[in-house]
Amino acid sequence: MKTLYIVATPIGNLEDITLRALRVLKEVDIIAAEDTRHTRKLLQRYGISKQLTSYFEHNELKKGEWLISQLKLGKDIAVVSDAGTPGISDPGYRLINMAVENYIQVVSIPGPSAIISALSIAGLPTDSFCFEGFIPSKAGERQKLLASLKGVKKTIVFYESSRRLLTTLADINNILGDIDVVVARELTKLHEEIVRGRVSKVLTDLSGRDIKGEITILISPKSVEATEEIPLLDEIIKLHKGLDLPLKEIAKIIAEKRGVPKREVYKEALKLK
Ligand code: SAM
Repeated sequence: MKTLYIVATPIGNLEDITLRALRVLKEVDIIAAEDTRHTRKLLQRYGISKQLTSYFEHNELKKGEWLISQLKLGKDIAVVSDAGTPGISDPGYRLINMAVENYIQVVSIPGPSAIISALSIAGLPTDSFCFEGFIPSKAGERQKLLASLKGVKKTIVFYESSRRLLTTLADINNILGDIDVVVARELTKLHEEIVRGRVSKVLTDLSGRDIKGEITILISPKSVEATEEIPLLDEIIKLHKGLDLPLKEIAKIIAEKRGVPKREVYKEALKLK
């Protein structure tokens, strides 16, 4: 039997691994890992001891040929990346193509992926979305890409490093306007944080902070015109009717959402008295 298994592993929280993934990792002959030291920690946690070999961007072709030769000898192989689903902004697809050309069965062992986790909690439309992978690190290329996304009527998702987060948010604001975004940081981990709102507000919330960790950015498909806020007093009335809270609390919620001073909202709210 020879099968190439593409196995999803946790994006942070080591509990996020399926029973099937654990069984396959136990049963295969070889595990090809992006970083063997990283994967060894996961395997140790589940008491799996297995031959590991490295398979990463810079040895994809050569190691791919060796992995195919092992599959042809009848060995089962699992591919894992450092986090999430192999092949999603990670090495994988070249090996899969080689396997397909050699009539080797390829089986998906689904599980976590940062894009899907971020989309699942973003509160943005997910019926159709546009995944851009890692946004370019060079300013010119990044700005060109963002300009090409003007008018896209789908939720846009991309990966970004924490070092460039603020610069990229500023580029989004300059090029796409003050649109709604969601920044998903450290999903499934201890310091998980979701920051939502107009990009100008998110920038204010995050600036001055030492931002670390893994970041996924989502951009709302709605144009700035379409997301124009309802008049302040209308929003206060709506919330006042819906929530049994004092006006001060209502003002606090709305002020945080709009990124404006609380007293400004409370002053408007007093008109209801
Ligand atoms: N194959 C992976 C997947 O399926 O999610 C993605 C690999 S890509 C090399 C890694 C990038 O995914 C990170 O730089 C970050 O942008 C995003 N990412 C990974 N883990 C994340 C997490 N826990 N929270 C937010 N974003 C994450």
